[in-house]
Amino acid sequence: MNDTSPTSAIAARLDAVRSRLDRAAADAGRAASAITLIAVSKRFGADSIAAALAAGQRDFGENRIQEALAKWPALKEKAPAARLHLIGGLQTNKAAQAVALFDVIHSLDRPRLARTLAREMAAQGRRPDCYIQINSGAEAQKSGVLPTEAEAFIALCTDELKLPVVGLMCIPPHDEEAALHFALLAKIAARHGLAGLSMGMSGDFETAIALGATCVRVGTAIFGPRPE
Ligand SMILES: *Cc1c(COP(=O)(O)O)cnc(C)c1O
Repeated sequence: MNDTSPTSAIAARLDAVRSRLDRAAADAGRAASAITLIAVSKRFGADSIAAALAAGQRDFGENRIQEALAKWPALKEKAPAARLHLIGGLQTNKAAQAVALFDVIHSLDRPRLARTLAREMAAQGRRPDCYIQINSGAEAQKSGVLPTEAEAFIALCTDELKLPVVGLMCIPPHDEEAALHFALLAKIAARHGLAGLSMGMSGDFETAIALGATCVRVGTAIFGPRPE
């Protein structure tokens, strides 16, 4: 973790990203207020996050439980309105920590995790919104439910386990047209009456908004190049 960008640079980039988001929403005939901008702060330190908070940013994304636990309890004390999104893979043995810390989980991707989350939510009396991650490109190395298995998994999560599923999430393959994957995700969500679409990153969030994204996950366009 390293702070590579001064406060003013982060505020300026955040401004630019918000303008791009507003324009993309207007072009799509959508209300910008219907799209949540998640600032992906993974591998950035507390100073960078504080700069974004000071500039009015409220939704943040992290991909690792340990890192989020190291940074966020203190930040949340100073900014209780901040909303924390888990956008990375979740190990079953960290589900309890995820339920305790995060407001939204974007990586619900397998039955065992779904059952563990349901148990933890009941035990803690906390119900973070969940997005089911779809492996839209059927990539072997990527997590997520295959499109062909989406129907059964959505039914398990909603009908059987009563998880607070609000939508679907995808990360398109690097070497393919992202629009095709965003459109597929929107189609699967519509078929199952799910309103939320977590899709689009720094390089393609305007395309995602054109295809119905309700939250976009933007890291480097806000915080600058990510420290290794
Ligand atoms: C890192 C990450 C992002 C942000 O990527 P940028 O290209 O920095 O905007 C979005 N979504 C997920 C799942 C990520 O891991």
